[in-house]
Amino acid sequence: MSIDTTKDILGQILAQVAEHARDHHEACEQLPILPAKPVSASSMAALGLTGSGIGLEATFQELMSTLVPSLPNSVGPRYFSLVTGGVTPAALVADWLTTVYDQNSILATQNVYSGQTQIEHQACEMFVSLLDLPTTQFRAILTTGSTASNIEAVALGRQWLGATKFGIDYSQDGYDGQVVVLTNRAHATVYKAASMLGIGRKQVHEMMGHLEDEGVLESKLQELARQGKAVMVVLGFGEVNTGIFPRPGAVQRIAELCRQHGAFLHIDGAFGAFARCSPSYAELADGLELADSITVCGHKWLNVPYDCGFFIVRRDLERDLERVFSSSAAYLKPVPGVPTHPMNLSIENSQRMRALAVWATLRAYGRAGYQKIVEDNCRFAKTMHHWMKVERPDLWTVLEEECPLNIVVFQATSPPNKPAAEEEKELEAEARRQEAVVKALNDTGVAAFSGTVWKSRPAIRAAISNWRTNIGKDWEIVRKVLETVGEQFKF
Ligand SMILES: *Cc1c(COP(=O)(O)O)cnc(C)c1O
Repeated sequence: MSIDTTKDILGQILAQVAEHARDHHEACEQLPILPAKPVSASSMAALGLTGSGIGLEATFQELMSTLVPSLPNSVGPRYFSLVTGGVTPAALVADWLTTVYDQNSILATQNVYSGQTQIEHQACEMFVSLLDLPTTQFRAILTTGSTASNIEAVALGRQWLGATKFGIDYSQDGYDGQVVVLTNRAHATVYKAASMLGIGRKQVHEMMGHLEDEGVLESKLQELARQGKAVMVVLGFGEVNTGIFPRPGAVQRIAELCRQHGAFLHIDGAFGAFARCSPSYAELADGLELADSITVCGHKWLNVPYDCGFFIVRRDLERDLERVFSSSAAYLKPVPGVPTHPMNLSIENSQRMRALAVWATLRAYGRAGYQKIVEDNCRFAKTMHHWMKVERPDLWTVLEEECPLNIVVFQATSPPNKPAAEEEKELEAEARRQEAVVKALNDTGVAAFSGTVWKSRPAIRAAISNWRTNIGKDWEIVRKVLETVGEQFKF
């Protein structure tokens, strides 16, 4: 079937989509977390590619009857699995328009330039400013997410260290294996970046909180210098299981040591950087401005649609970044007077115009809007943490004494005086039990949590990062679920 260009069919269907979107916008507050009709491999088998195609109308029917009902309600207010975020109304509207106009940001380098880069530039500046970072000192570029941002960071750190330590341009001459990455509660994607970039996962040394201890980093830097190594330090700002940050004052000390020893400092603040949106939490993320580069997620706490991330870099490092990522071709001429195109500062050439959703949500809700989202979400997490720790420790055990931000890590309470013998078997049994608890919680359909391991203990995690989540509306519902499932698994 050839593509039907009859306007009214498309118009009718788009109107139905709009109606569905509006209904879902309200319904997602109450809909179960898990899909009503999960799609199976066998039901999909009948819906594959055919010779002639089935046309728009029939496809729309299949989308609405089979595919869409199989999607979980992760935009709802009680989806606490991973750090998922939602989509603000302004971001949703702008994201639709992004698809309608299907801009490739790369077009801004060509003779059809009409301001796309300017929009992207302003969206990025607004974001840097939201995080209370000086726009004179930092510039942001859009990425597909924090994975890509961490890859950019490790690539930039490697390039800069090659130039400053060894006088080598790795982007031209290749990498010769002298960079070590020291990390403090780093995300798994830092290892992925090290693997992809030829540094190697084994050259990433996770030091947990010890990197913050007086003297530890200094002696490590001296030891590595004696071995002729160059060092990149990666700090986690908001550890994924707990939301933990470095201790007050630690970042300032670490940054000063990095400066003295010529080490590169990257901070992964995928969601933690948003602490700076609220005066009540900003102190946690103090020192972010001392980094050479910063990772932040858009599709998490900014509540724009997947996929969107930010790589924020000190402006005086932009040339090094460009050496790594520039993509020169005869048909990709820059526009004079326009800031360096993101294509030459990031992984992809062709890029979706993510800037429209970022710009719209920041313009619509401003600093106060994001302060409220952060504070509502953190208050929710703290309420859950306090309730578990103080009111119902018989049902739930929190695995961290404090809940600094928006994440609670906990377990269904285990029986006291567990026998020490056969510890490994004990641990396996415990892991199975906690997994069963997560399943029971998620099967209620009311809230979703994820399983994890924290300090070698099987654990459950709730990450609150959706603009919809609110104590007044959602806490009683969640508390009841935690009570019911907790009683079910109580010893
Ligand atoms: C989520 C996360 C990442 C990875 O981000 P993606 O958006 O999944 O690519 C990296 N670092 C931290 C701290 C994160 O929370």
